[in-house]
Amino acid sequence: MRFMLALLLAKILASVGRLTKKGTNLPGDIALKIDKHLLGKITFTGKVIAITGSNGKTSTTNMLTYILKEAGFKVVSNQKGSNLTGGVATTLLSSANLKGRVVADFVILEVDERYSRLIFKDFSADYLLCTNLFRDQLTRNGNVDVIINKLHEAIKPTVSLILNANDPISTNLAPNNKRVYYHLNRSSISSDKPTNITHDAKVCPLCMHRLDYNFYHYNHIGDYYCHHCGYQTPLAKYNADIIDLDAGTFKVNNHLTKTNFKSIFNIINTTAAIATACELGLDIDIVTKIMTNFNIMEQRYHEFLINDRKAMMILSKNQNPVSYDQSIDYLNSIKEPKTVIIVVNNINHTYHKDTTWLYDVSFEKLLGNVANIICCGERAYDLAVRLKLAGFSEETMIIKEKPQMIKNELNDTKGMICFLTELYDAKTVINAVK
Ligand SMILES: [Zn+2]
Repeated sequence: MRFMLALLLAKILASVGRLTKKGTNLPGDIALKIDKHLLGKITFTGKVIAITGSNGKTSTTNMLTYILKEAGFKVVSNQKGSNLTGGVATTLLSSANLKGRVVADFVILEVDERYSRLIFKDFSADYLLCTNLFRDQLTRNGNVDVIINKLHEAIKPTVSLILNANDPISTNLAPNNKRVYYHLNRSSISSDKPTNITHDAKVCPLCMHRLDYNFYHYNHIGDYYCHHCGYQTPLAKYNADIIDLDAGTFKVNNHLTKTNFKSIFNIINTTAAIATACELGLDIDIVTKIMTNFNIMEQRYHEFLINDRKAMMILSKNQNPVSYDQSIDYLNSIKEPKTVIIVVNNINHTYHKDTTWLYDVSFEKLLGNVANIICCGERAYDLAVRLKLAGFSEETMIIKEKPQMIKNELNDTKGMICFLTELYDAKTVINAVK
């Protein structure tokens, strides 16, 4: 009875939410207050796939949803990144029929790694894809070890895992569960040495001795081995190689595919989506062909004009140094002159005053690659201190806390305008300078 009430109310609230384009978490949150075990009462006609990890879970969820829909399947997913308990409940309740059954071939759920143990308290996914584990929002999540413990509480023994062989931290997740790995071979930009400040896997997760690397893709993602206990990059069922970063092409198990977002980070995530679709029974030839038409640029990168000047927004998550490093690498791949506007606002929407994460980001890589750098947001001065430490001169930097104050300053800058900002701030900042 309580479940029926929760189901009906969530459906009504979700319909209202769709009309007002608000409230992806709210209907589920309210329904969970009425029946806190409701997730265990929903039934499914198809398989449930959970996607988690520190970075790339939204893109990978979108890619997998795209593949399955293009292949003709009925798919339910929380594509908008509403990945906490309320968001997952909203997605499932609004898709369920009046008997509480979700009639779909596949249900794909992006799941916050910290909330996974709460989301999967009363039901379980059939498959779990973990893209990677890094330090992320330390004041909220704690260290990577804390996240692993929370994930272990969420993963039931029956769950089949799809894991990134290049990540020494998440390959070791729930070691007794059935698993397959995907892996990216050495590319033209692989490095023998770490290329970023943040490195969360310097020691072997099994024996705590030094972990050595044959090569790095980025941060601690690469090919590794432990001399002491033999822990090493596992053999992968899905292997990506022959990577042409200029063309955006690569092969997964000898099947050619393509991406329009030409970064190693994205190629690994694309391989993850392909591997998962194949594990769900799709043919790799079809899957790799479908992926060639997927357009990721709209979601993470947005190009536009400001008074006839070329501009680009690059989504950069505050408090997530590896995500920021990815944005910086992408920025450096743009060869034309550019002015960079970095917005640090984490105080506004998370209420976390911690800015220590700025010291985990490899801002040094921007040295010599940008004409001007504008520090913006509530934490503009903290950012300026960090950039000064990285070697930027005061003449290169402009500091303005409010986005509205940037507009005039832009006239004195050169080249393409690149915004590194959170999704939350993007519209405000872009509108302020237009
Ligand atoms: Zn070891």
